[in-house]
Amino acid sequence: MDFLRPTTWEEALAAKADQPEALPVQGGTDVMVEINFDVRRPPALLDLTRVAELREWTVEDGGGCRVGAGVTYTTVIEELGGALPGLAQASRTVGSPQIRNRGTVGGNLGAASPAGDSHPPLLAAGAEIEVESRDRGIRLIPAEEFYLGVKRSALLPDELIRAVRLRAAGGPQYFSKVGTRNAMVIAVCSFAIALHPEDRRVGTGVGSAAPTPLRALEAEEFLRGELDWDAPLDPALARRFGELCAGAASPIDDVRGTAGYRRHAIGVMARRTLAWAWNDHLGRRAA
Ligand SMILES: Cc1cc2nc3c(=O)[nH]c(=O)nc-3n(C[C@H](O)[C@H](O)[C@H](O)COP(=O)(O)OP(=O)(O)OC[C@H]3O[C@@H](n4cnc5c(N)ncnc54)[C@H](O)[C@@H]3O)c2cc1C
Repeated sequence: MDFLRPTTWEEALAAKADQPEALPVQGGTDVMVEINFDVRRPPALLDLTRVAELREWTVEDGGGCRVGAGVTYTTVIEELGGALPGLAQASRTVGSPQIRNRGTVGGNLGAASPAGDSHPPLLAAGAEIEVESRDRGIRLIPAEEFYLGVKRSALLPDELIRAVRLRAAGGPQYFSKVGTRNAMVIAVCSFAIALHPEDRRVGTGVGSAAPTPLRALEAEEFLRGELDWDAPLDPALARRFGELCAGAASPIDDVRGTAGYRRHAIGVMARRTLAWAWNDHLGRRAA
């Protein structure tokens, strides 16, 4: 197996263009497990850990954020909790401290597992995935178009994930995850919510309850039509929102949970996270 070690982004893109079958490795917390268990044996590994650009993040004055694909969960938690609270909450639930020190948002996207914890907050926040190839340059892919199927994404063989672009939170954000224990657990299902008071919109992200992470679009539309942004949350409206989010899911029975349980739990998490976010929203207005 070849081991390619670019030291710059340009070298990494050139290596991927010349050898599209080379498997990128960032933190290795998915890749090394798969290699150890002989799930795959790529002809080459493309080690991205020396590409310093991938570990950079920026939050601009206007609110634009760019999080490099090699930014670890620990960095998101310690340095981006203010700008990206939903992603930071999700990051806190990933694996153990060791996994959070190595594992990255870019790697989560590369793996494109329906259970990946960064996907729901990226969907709820309206993130775009910045990908690049040597020969065709940069593409910005809206998160909801990035996930194509179970562990399949819109990334082409000669492309690499460069960064995630999204707006710093303009309102409260929450992430909720059901697992069979409190830590070191793959989500049975998960849910993220982001209030966007600036355009009176609520974003959603549903995880581990369909072949891909997804937005509950009907539920978002429902709130767009019904929410009074100046009033307390109507419990009937929150219940209907939960039902619509549950309806957006198309889960399966597997070792972690049944389809029925997952659908129910998505509804509960949607209702609860909306209530938490709404309390914060009204609290900020009163302050
Ligand atoms: C013990 C354990 C616990 C875990 N717990 C969780 C959990 O709670 N929640 C969760 O979501 N995940 C969990 N994971 C999975 C894993 O940690 C995450 O998916 C993590 O985000 C992967 O990041 P990484 O940098 O290690 O990726 P890597 O393993 O390096 O790569 C993962 C995939 O992304 C591709 N890739 C990486 N970087 C790029 C790039 N720049 N461009 C294109 N493709 C790229 C790789 O080729 C590979 O297909 C766990 C893993 C372990 C071993």
